[in-house]
Amino acid sequence: MSEPTRIVILGAGFGGLELSTALCTALAGTVDVTLIDQHDAFVFGFSKLDVMFGRQTMDEVSLRYSGIARPGLTFRQETVQSIDPVNKRVVTDSGTYDADILVVALGADLAPETTPGLLEHGHEFYSVAAAPAVREVIENFAGGRVVIGVLGGFFKCPPAPYEMAFLLRDHLERVGLWEQSSISIVTPMPKPIPISDDVSNGIIGALDAVGISYSHGTWTDRLEPGIAHLRDGREVPFDLFLGVPVHVAPGVVVDAGLTDDGWIAVDQNTFATKFADVYAIGDVASVPVPRAGVIAEGEARTLAEVLIHRLGGGPEPAPFPGEIMCYIEMGADRIGRVNVNFLSGPAPVARYTPPSLEGSAEKGEFGATRRARWFGLA
Ligand SMILES: Cc1cc2nc3c(=O)[nH]c(=O)nc-3n(C[C@H](O)[C@H](O)[C@H](O)COP(=O)(O)OP(=O)(O)OC[C@H]3O[C@@H](n4cnc5c(N)ncnc54)[C@H](O)[C@@H]3O)c2cc1C
Repeated sequence: MSEPTRIVILGAGFGGLELSTALCTALAGTVDVTLIDQHDAFVFGFSKLDVMFGRQTMDEVSLRYSGIARPGLTFRQETVQSIDPVNKRVVTDSGTYDADILVVALGADLAPETTPGLLEHGHEFYSVAAAPAVREVIENFAGGRVVIGVLGGFFKCPPAPYEMAFLLRDHLERVGLWEQSSISIVTPMPKPIPISDDVSNGIIGALDAVGISYSHGTWTDRLEPGIAHLRDGREVPFDLFLGVPVHVAPGVVVDAGLTDDGWIAVDQNTFATKFADVYAIGDVASVPVPRAGVIAEGEARTLAEVLIHRLGGGPEPAPFPGEIMCYIEMGADRIGRVNVNFLSGPAPVARYTPPSLEGSAEKGEFGATRRARWFGLA
C-alpha cells in the first residue's frame, strides 16, 4: 500500500476548516492532513459583533481546535515562521513540515498601525482581540459623536461596518443615549456593496430610516485626539472612532515570494499558485470576489474537489461558482440577506432580501451547521 499523501494546510479559519473536513471525509486513509494555526480556537467573524454588544462572551464564541477529532487530521497550534513554496517546506515555532501538497489559507492580517493615530485616539473593531476591548468601550461610552471609519480600500466582509452602525444605534437607543448621539460611516467604498445598486439602496434606505449618516468615496488619512482628518481636507470631530483597519497579506506569505499584487495570485478554477502543488484560498488569495468567510468556504470546497479528483479519481471538478449568501445585521434583531453570483455571468448578479426575524433564525442555522461539520458540536 502506498504512503498517504501529505497535505499541509496553513490556517484554520473558514477556508482551512472546510478544506480539511472535506479532504479527510472524502479521502480517508489516503491522505495525512496537517492543519496549522497560531490560535487555539476559531471565532466566526460575526461572533465578534455578538461579543462587542454583550450577546455572548469570548469563551462562548471560541470553538476550540482541540475538539476536532477526525481520522487523518492532525491539528497543530503553532505559528508559521517561513514557507518555502518550491520545496513545500514550512517552518513553525515548533517544527518543520514537508508537504506533498501545500495549501495557504492564512487569511488577511490587520495593520492598524498604518493609520496614524488610530490606536492612540480610536479603536479597531475587526480583530478577535478587539472584541472584548470594544465591548468595554461601548459599555462605558456616555454618548456623543461616533465615527465608523473604513481605513483601506480592501477589507473583509463589506457589510460589517454597516452592521456595527445598526447594532450601535440599537444599543444607544436601549441605554437611553441616542438623543445625545450621532453615528456617521466614513468609507472609501463608492456605495455599501459596489456590485449591487439594489443591495446598496436597501442598506442606505435602512440607514436613513434610523438617522445614521454616511460619506462614501471618502478616505480617512489620520486621527488626532477627537478629530479624523479626511483626504479631501475635511476634519470630522468624534467622541468615539471605531475603525476597520488596513488589511495586508500575512508577512510570512509576502516573505515567501508568494504574493504578486499584494495577495497570492491563483488560477480561479483550481486555486493553484505559480508554485507546483501549492494552492491558496480565502482572504489571502487574489480572486475577483469580495473577501468573506462564505467565499473562503466556497473556494475550499472547489479546491477539495480539485484535490479529490486528482488524488482519488473523483468527478471532474466544476469551476468555482463565486456564489454566496451573506447575512447583514440591520438592527432590531432583524437580519437581511444578500445572494450574489460573482463569476457565472458577464457581471455579478445580486438579490437583496430585506431584514426579518426569519433572517436571524437562518443566520443561527448557518453557524450551527458549521459548528457541527467542523467541530462535531451539536
Ligand atoms: C466583524 C467581522 C464580521 C464578519 N462577518 C462575516 C459574515 O457575517 N459572513 C462572512 O462570510 N464573513 C464575515 N467576516 C469575514 C470572515 O471572517 C473572513 O473573510 C474569513 O474568516 C476568511 O477566511 P480565511 O480562511 O481566508 O481566513 P481566516 O478565517 O482569517 O483564517 C486564517 C487563519 O490563519 C491563521 N494564521 C494567520 N497567520 C498565521 C501564522 N503565521 N501562523 C499560524 N496561523 C496563522 C489565523 O490565526 C487564522 O485562524 C467577518 C469579519 C469580521 C472582522
